[in-house]
Amino acid sequence: MRSDNILIIGAGLVGSLLSIMLIKKGFSVSIFEKRPDPRLSRMQGGRSINLALSHRGITALKYAGVYDSINPKLIPMHGRKIHQQNGILDYQPYGKTGQFINSVSRKHLNELLVAEAEKLGVNIHFDHTLTKVDFDETYVELINHGQTFRVAGQCIIGADGANSMVREQFQKHPDFDFERDQLDYGYKELSVDPVRNDFALDPNALHIWPRGKFMLIALPNNDKSFTATLFLPLTGENSFECLKSIDDIKSFFSNHFEDSTGILNLNRDFLKNPISTLATIKCNPWNQHKTLLIGDASHGIVPFYGQGMNAGFESSRLLVDSLPNESPNWKTIFNGFQKTRKRDTDAIASFALKNFTEMSEWVGDKSFLLKKQIEAKLAELDSTAWVPEYSMVTFSDMPYSEAWRKAENQHNYLRKFLEEKNISDISRLDLGEFLFGINS
Ligand code: FAD
Repeated sequence: MRSDNILIIGAGLVGSLLSIMLIKKGFSVSIFEKRPDPRLSRMQGGRSINLALSHRGITALKYAGVYDSINPKLIPMHGRKIHQQNGILDYQPYGKTGQFINSVSRKHLNELLVAEAEKLGVNIHFDHTLTKVDFDETYVELINHGQTFRVAGQCIIGADGANSMVREQFQKHPDFDFERDQLDYGYKELSVDPVRNDFALDPNALHIWPRGKFMLIALPNNDKSFTATLFLPLTGENSFECLKSIDDIKSFFSNHFEDSTGILNLNRDFLKNPISTLATIKCNPWNQHKTLLIGDASHGIVPFYGQGMNAGFESSRLLVDSLPNESPNWKTIFNGFQKTRKRDTDAIASFALKNFTEMSEWVGDKSFLLKKQIEAKLAELDSTAWVPEYSMVTFSDMPYSEAWRKAENQHNYLRKFLEEKNISDISRLDLGEFLFGINS
């Protein structure tokens, strides 16, 4: 194999999209993926079946020239449908009219990206597991059907996910910082079948059953089913450890998610599907010499803002956009990339952790709902003085760290304003005075 290839480890979502961007820029690219070709195998259970794709991910897919192929398979979700404990159904739009996020099948998106990469000339080697990286000589060691061999490249990019083996090689270096912050929560996927050949719930919304310390969510699929995910503490009261028998499970669901019991197939799914764990992954530096980590391998986040893949896609676009067409100095480029990007991926990691509280507790909370009503009113005015946090994160290309800073300032201003004026309902709010205060 030619040593002028860029070697990407992992043909997941980020590795396969990155390969398309790189080959279109004129580089030759090879990918090594430990799993079999996804086009020939069934989806592995346990990992999210569908994902929320939003603006940042779409910008990157457009940059790679593949958005038009995936677009027909997207299901728009315009807002959150909130299933309250008392059976009442609330609705919160995600943004202004025309702003929405999209449910997309992980398997379908991955297959499409892999097919497109191959069509463009990327060499994808499935069933090849990376076992070692030599940073000084820029080569990798791989195992395929019991045989070990080496491949050299001009640089190596580890897009091998949250349990990255490339990153494990970095850990042998004494100055490498690595943090894996495991939540004491787990998640389990369940499914909602179609009813009379139609969606059992409104397909153009992300459904949430917020219950304080835990929640259930559901996203639509193209076959008119929904994939539901239960997020629950691993131990203690109302936890996975309490749900052993089918009777425990059924009584837990009828106590907390009564309107879901008729549509979830608990007998089939709950005992069969695994409990997966959730973690935030941070490390520093992202590169050793001419080897770089990208996607979940360098910035794995919890899924509560629906941004992990979107952030990985955005990272790929920013990296490729920073490359010269010829003879890149990989070490310098990788150093520079991490320098500007890491503060943003740290910021989205914090947003994602904070959003769990928002989704599970605040969506049912009065002061949170008041804040959302005020933001909706401000959005109607089309004010540029106030862009809701969710919109900055989900519907813009603003660096995540800038969105974090702005959101903090807005949050503090709003809290102080409502307290000083003692406002508890939107009819008593003078929007002009409110906006004047932001600008002064
Ligand atoms: P992966 O998708 O994990 O791909 C890594 C690839 O590397 C895999 O194919 C793997 O087989 C391969 N690999 C691993 N080790 C080796 C090795 N040693 N040798 C060769 N190959 C190897 N993000 C969103 O944007 N929106 C969402 O709504 C959303 N929802 C989520 C819900 C859940 C429950 C979870 C867990 C995550 C969610 N995410 C979401 C995050 C998203 O799944 C990840 O950010 C995304 O998959 C990261 O892509 P990646 O390519 O970096 O890693």
